[in-house]
Amino acid sequence: MQRLQQQLDKIDGRGYKAYKQLSGDYFYDNFRIHVDHIQGDPFAQPSRISIYVPRATHGLPAELWSSPCRQTALEDFLGRAVAAAIDQHVQGHRGTGHSGQIRIAISGQQILRRNAVLIHQDGIEARLLIALPADGRRALGQEAATMFCVELPKVVDAGLCYRERSLENTWQHVEQAEDQDYLRDWLDQAGAIAFVANGSILPRFSGINDRPLENGIPFLSPASLIREIELPNRGTISGMLIPRGITLIVGGGFHGKSTLLQALERGVYNHLPGDGRELVVTTPGAVKIRAEDHRSIHRVNISPFINNLPGGRDTTCFSTENASGSTSQAANIIEALECGCDCLLIDEDTSATNFMIRDQRMQQLVSPDKEPITPLLHRIRELYRDRGVSAVIVTGGSGEYLSVADRVIQLDNYQPQDVSEQARNIAGDPPVSEHPLSPWPQADRPLEAKRLDANRPPKGIRIDVREKVLLDFGRKRINLSQVEQLVDCGQSEAIGWLLHYCRERYADHPGGLIKALRQSLSDAETRGLDILPPWKVGHLALPRLYELAAAANRIRTTDRTTRP
Ligand code: ADP
Ligand code: MG
Repeated sequence: MQRLQQQLDKIDGRGYKAYKQLSGDYFYDNFRIHVDHIQGDPFAQPSRISIYVPRATHGLPAELWSSPCRQTALEDFLGRAVAAAIDQHVQGHRGTGHSGQIRIAISGQQILRRNAVLIHQDGIEARLLIALPADGRRALGQEAATMFCVELPKVVDAGLCYRERSLENTWQHVEQAEDQDYLRDWLDQAGAIAFVANGSILPRFSGINDRPLENGIPFLSPASLIREIELPNRGTISGMLIPRGITLIVGGGFHGKSTLLQALERGVYNHLPGDGRELVVTTPGAVKIRAEDHRSIHRVNISPFINNLPGGRDTTCFSTENASGSTSQAANIIEALECGCDCLLIDEDTSATNFMIRDQRMQQLVSPDKEPITPLLHRIRELYRDRGVSAVIVTGGSGEYLSVADRVIQLDNYQPQDVSEQARNIAGDPPVSEHPLSPWPQADRPLEAKRLDANRPPKGIRIDVREKVLLDFGRKRINLSQVEQLVDCGQSEAIGWLLHYCRERYADHPGGLIKALRQSLSDAETRGLDILPPWKVGHLALPRLYELAAAANRIRTTDRTTRP
């Protein structure tokens, strides 16, 4: 630390580039830092350092990371502890631009596999972003010395040293994540696709704040769907089990239908203690399906839903740069099935009506040969029967789906009730399709390597995330704003790197695009996110295959720069 102090003294008052002298390792009393990258100016991306805290110093028992689930949860816990310590001990603003800020890339209500904190056998590694301070373009070495020599040791002590501290919260974080994994694994054995524990708080603070709504009304399962389950850590809990099959969520406007569906969407991830959804789990293969006007579609067989388009366009290998509501929703389903999706989550609020239903009066008025769309209504039972794909569908306005539902849950003042019996009495017969049904696609789509090119000559690889959901990838911009189960900008960036990795490693994969993506994801899972970028970063988070494939599927054929 002394050497660092001396170096920063010398840098003080000189041009910003003088910071480039900082490099390699610096030793503190009970930890070490490594300088990974120094920024070029005070407005650039902040500098990156890694902190290494040896085992004897952090004092965490090995049982806390004795399984992959525990390890991910512990890494998440430590990242958040560092973030809290930064809030407490770092002054922040110290000059021009971002000068003085220290950050760790960990946020949100989900516990994801990340590379901000890594537990190694011999200690903890934590990766921080440090905005080296400047006044204009003059380095503020003294301020930097305060950051490195006063603030940083306090952050490490408060966030990463546990020798004489209570581990109660640490264990709670790890055990609750373990319980969620257990619960999710149990779903399959219970023949179910989701579980919502009694007492869960589903509504969020606001549309832009994912924390629980204060005074939200706790969830209480209808008696007919209630199930008990004993978790390894928490003991016995009870709640609503949603079996496989077709489940409708009905009810008046503003009674909490979409809120329940959104909780199920997020139930594929583990949540923090206190989130309110920490005992809401969904099968890992659940995919939110929505209409997505204007998305691009590349060589997808949407013929199970769309046929006989005007102009005789082929729908067995359909491409467009500007999809309609119905074609986009059809493509979203086909692409999800391609990745192994076993449960569709659909909200009428974000669906194309003509994709969802076609009622009898419209069938009389517009003859079948004039209607290219086979609505989901006509295939949803078959999808479950033949392919084992369940569905949860929110519908307030149309009763058409009652005839194909296995169960109907009504939300009344945010409280779910099982109205399956009444629904059966009024449902009528399931609809018969007017079209001959096209077979579900079998063949694997080829991987077209040039679509996965992250290069933007002459500058080289370009993988940048804007506003969490806009991924600048090579010459293209991939819009992920409608991919609703993407929860973190670290996932978006990891997706960019995974696409690049997939092209480098598996361009010739005989299984085609999706198998190559699956293999790339599995490599990152087993060997760590660090295999992806050529330099060390700490802000990546692991996505699911569905979101990774969603990005590959949305790469446009035309250049972003040539569009108006
Ligand atoms: P719907 O889809 O049935 O029209 P929403 O799910 O959009 O209704 O919910 C309407 C409003 O009620 C939202 O502002 C939501 O945050 C709130 N809300 C939902 N569930 C609860 C609950 N359990 N307790 C309190 N408020 C809730
Ligand atoms: Mg709604």
